[in-house]
Amino acid sequence: MTDQQPAIRLTGLTKEFGAVTAVDNVDLEIAAGEFFSMLGPSGSGKTTVLRLIAGFEQPTSGTIELFGQDVTKRAPFDRDVNTVFQDYALFPHMSVLENVAYGLRVRGIGRKERNERARRALASVRLEQMAARKPSQLSGGQRQRVALARATVVQPKVLLLDEPLGALDLKLREQMQVELKEIQRDLGITFIFVTHDQEEALTLSDRIAVFNDGRIEQLGTPAELYEHPGSRFVADFVGTSNLLDDAASHELLGRGGLHSVRPEKMTVGGGETGADVHNAPGTVVETIYLGSGIRIVVDLDAGSRVSVLEQNDRHRVHDDERGDRVVVSWHDADVISLATSESVTDAAAAASV
Ligand code: ADP
Ligand code: MG
Repeated sequence: MTDQQPAIRLTGLTKEFGAVTAVDNVDLEIAAGEFFSMLGPSGSGKTTVLRLIAGFEQPTSGTIELFGQDVTKRAPFDRDVNTVFQDYALFPHMSVLENVAYGLRVRGIGRKERNERARRALASVRLEQMAARKPSQLSGGQRQRVALARATVVQPKVLLLDEPLGALDLKLREQMQVELKEIQRDLGITFIFVTHDQEEALTLSDRIAVFNDGRIEQLGTPAELYEHPGSRFVADFVGTSNLLDDAASHELLGRGGLHSVRPEKMTVGGGETGADVHNAPGTVVETIYLGSGIRIVVDLDAGSRVSVLEQNDRHRVHDDERGDRVVVSWHDADVISLATSESVTDAAAAASV
């Protein structure tokens, strides 16, 4: 029944380190079983939030609840959470099985039961064949899976993961992303995943909180954040955005303000027709071959530099070259209206009057 409660509830959570406010009055609820990501640039406060949830830091103010219970003052070992860090140090002299069983041993669980549970945890990360090996006999991805098994074997209700794939090369990362998602689904544990990689967050998460300067700038599903970024910061940080400033907006859209259009919503060549199509002449700066796609960078006569992403499909006839005059087109429905930070504050101030 307690599972009806959010797994995590942060209320007015603030952490100051001297003059630095690392976490600034964060309110957040994370549902049980959710794959939740905290996404933001380096220094935006993500790790500090995790460390506060784990109990490694005490907040300056605010509270932390786990499944409806206030744990703000509790010691780390007295919270039903476990953490996987980027530098998942395994014990080199212990076998894989002993590494995974370690957390059970320190909890006083007998040899037979802890080995059974460790084997099950290893099976959940598809490493049951590797139980007898030493960590040095594993690949980076396998070691990362051992670290996951070690964290899940004690059956925490919440697993905190701080950039756990950061040390892996791209191919392995992509493989591990799929596995992480499967493991989370199989175990039904709430995952709180920290990353600075927007693609990783979009791929894995049920919901994402975008952090900026210790605050949550926007909270939503991957599609909500991508399709409806609420600010310039989010539009820039989540995916690639073409920004049209006030002057360019006036000239190209017929209305002022700050707007953005995603590269894949633009085309080059003037093939678009319809009442809501905008056409903007410009000069090609660069054509970049991406394999599955082509990125064409165009300096619009209206003053903005935009990046257009076209599929490398059979409809492509020729590549535009540097210096070519082109027309970039997009539909008005694909124009995102952005609030600048200032105007958000203005709107909030106006609303509170
Ligand atoms: P992120 O994980 O998003 O990169 P952090 O939570 O590590 O960000 O850091 C947020 C801010 O808090 C940074 O400005 C960082 O320098 C500062 N900070 C974090 N931990 C400490 C600490 N123990 N002492 C002083 N400042 C810290
Ligand atoms: Mg960090």
